[in-house]
Amino acid sequence: MTRWVLWVGGAVQGCGFRPHVCGLARRFGLGGFVRNEGDAVRIEVEGPVGEVRAFHAALMAAAAFASRITSLRREEVDPRGESRFVITPSAEVPGVAAFLPADIATCPACVAELTDPKDRRHRYPFVSCARCGPRYTVVTSLPYDRERTTMAGFALCPDCRREYDDPADRRFHAQTIACPACGPRLTLLDARGEVVPAADPLAAAAAALRGGRIVAVKGLGGFHLACAAAGPAGVAELRRRKGREAKPLAVMAADPASVCDPTPDELDALASPERPIVLVRRRGGGAIADGVAPGTPYLGVMLPYTPLHHLLLREVGGPLVMTSGNRSDEPIAFEDADAVRRLAGLADLFLTHDRPIRTRCDDSVVRVVAGRLLPVRRSRGFSPSPVPLPFRCPSPVLATGGHLKAAFALGHGDRAVLSHHLGDLDGYEAVREFAAAVADYERLLGTRPAVIAHDLHPDYATTRYALDRAAADPAVKLVPVQHHHAHLAACMAENGLTGSVIGVVFDGSGYGDDGTVWGGEFLVGGYSGFRRAGHLRRVALPGGDAAAREPWRVAASHLLDAGQGTDVLAGRIDTGTLRRVESLIARGVNVPLTSSAGRLFDAVAAVVGLRTHAGYEGQAALELEGLAAGAEPDGCYPFPVATPADAPLEPDTRPLIAAVAADVRAGVPPARIARRFHSALAAAVATACGMIRDRTGLSAVVLTGGVFLNAVLLAECLDRLGRSGFRAYRHTLVPPGDGGLCLGQLAVAAAWAARDNPPVPTP
Ligand code: ZN
Ligand code: ZN
Ligand code: FE
Repeated sequence: MTRWVLWVGGAVQGCGFRPHVCGLARRFGLGGFVRNEGDAVRIEVEGPVGEVRAFHAALMAAAAFASRITSLRREEVDPRGESRFVITPSAEVPGVAAFLPADIATCPACVAELTDPKDRRHRYPFVSCARCGPRYTVVTSLPYDRERTTMAGFALCPDCRREYDDPADRRFHAQTIACPACGPRLTLLDARGEVVPAADPLAAAAAALRGGRIVAVKGLGGFHLACAAAGPAGVAELRRRKGREAKPLAVMAADPASVCDPTPDELDALASPERPIVLVRRRGGGAIADGVAPGTPYLGVMLPYTPLHHLLLREVGGPLVMTSGNRSDEPIAFEDADAVRRLAGLADLFLTHDRPIRTRCDDSVVRVVAGRLLPVRRSRGFSPSPVPLPFRCPSPVLATGGHLKAAFALGHGDRAVLSHHLGDLDGYEAVREFAAAVADYERLLGTRPAVIAHDLHPDYATTRYALDRAAADPAVKLVPVQHHHAHLAACMAENGLTGSVIGVVFDGSGYGDDGTVWGGEFLVGGYSGFRRAGHLRRVALPGGDAAAREPWRVAASHLLDAGQGTDVLAGRIDTGTLRRVESLIARGVNVPLTSSAGRLFDAVAAVVGLRTHAGYEGQAALELEGLAAGAEPDGCYPFPVATPADAPLEPDTRPLIAAVAADVRAGVPPARIARRFHSALAAAVATACGMIRDRTGLSAVVLTGGVFLNAVLLAECLDRLGRSGFRAYRHTLVPPGDGGLCLGQLAVAAAWAARDNPPVPTP
């Protein structure tokens, strides 16, 4: 006889792991218990050595859970003579935050019931089991048990109770268990919020969608606005009502191959339990109206992730546009009354239900680059599952993140919990939402950090939030973190790196520690500090912030800087306006200097004739990448790296811009120009990194910043750096853009807090 204690770490809470362990232990006739302990799971099993070993092997072999396990520790102790195996209540661990489980898409077994006419849950839109269903969006407090979810008001019927109590049933301890007899129900509301009498609200909503209407559908983390994706008129109407002119809309499809051409890796990402929106090369043919994603070869696609989605797609019989239920720039609506009020005039009907959503949570967005996920937006499904850290936080840390694509992080021990996506913090509503979300996570996780990290930018709402917290509480220690230093640290942390690296940090803009706008940076450093080893050549940014929305402005600036005429912009920009901006640049009036890589993309996009004005942030760069992706590699433009004495090295954009302009004048196809430009930038990255390696001996490079959402650039940089003997790292867990900033701020603040005891790598 023996007794083993197993500690299992990872995303193993709230996914049916304990019921699974219990069923397995009973199958092998073992005694003991399983329970949640802090953010891990503790298992104690006892019985004959052979059976205990077999149990352990079977536990490791369960593919559904293996990928969620990040650590496993085992210890042998004296047997206690237990022969029964039970699930015992969760135990708190001092200094360790509780585990907050993320939502999980409907599993195949539940989908099978949904479509089985003989099953008692046939066509029931709230089917779930111990392994799937809503989690974070229904949790009211921890630990995660039914009485602390928004399902608390639905008393179990005898049938559900029996399943819940039966260790052999896959709904054993399923906290969101429900059935048509005892669970939530659908309701259809008209545009004014009045109940539409319908025997079958789902069928009525599906009929309206087939008829080209716009229906607000209550999902996991909020309302979507849905319309048939094949109908150009419906899509145009949705855009008109939402005030969204150009930004691509996401599509939900039961069969992704009907709307796009996914690679096997992309199919895996689509079908993963997180069910993110995956950016995939779109497919021609009329399955999707052109207005869904104009001007880009990519389409944001997701598979259905709730039973309601499965049923709706089936009844509609084709893909649906599914976009966040909000007006532009507002947070997504998630409460019925609020949705009806805020979506008035946007939706013709509301397909809703009586299971409250406690927290709003947008869909996640990913790409797949070089076989691995590249997060664009980390939210539903991923958040708030913790990110493991390669160091310990000496005390709890709050990192408030950036201003756009906001997300914050709470660090505790060797884990960071990153919030869901909180959007751009320009409006009052969004800022209020941000503060409420911080308070909510702190309450759920039972933490109130006294170390708060924030960006250097004085006008970021997240900086102001941090300063307010410090003003209200003298115990709070603020740690300001330079924007690109935070990007570098974020990429290091998620790759488990410590020490020093070369950071290639390319983004739109960030506040430099010299008060200028940075964005094309070569940094050397780690969590405890950095220096600026290089940056792209700086050019004037005529009109400051307006330049980000009008790529032609920075194009004019780059052309003049390179000694070129602005003739390549002529005909597309009004001559008077062009002359005015040229004179602004010449006189240096209202023209901050920037080294921004994002603006360099804008400039090239405008010069090749792709786009003079951007409808949304990053549009020009995304379209330029789309062009490049369609062309074969074809050499690259000159992009020499200057090495001024006693100053950071400087990739010189002038020969590059001159060569681009010459090709445009010579009538070279834009796709070829775009491809050569991407290659030139990747080559300059490799050259500059080589020079920095020669001076520092460092050979680890992190590629980070929002520009590295560009799949063509990222893949080519990885390739060139790899061939030059570098170890190159990219993002796979958090976004390279400002959505991932909080993780880096957290790492820097933890290093600061541990200055006397430098962060220790965890084994
Ligand atoms: Zn299930
Ligand atoms: Zn029931
Ligand atoms: Fe940034």
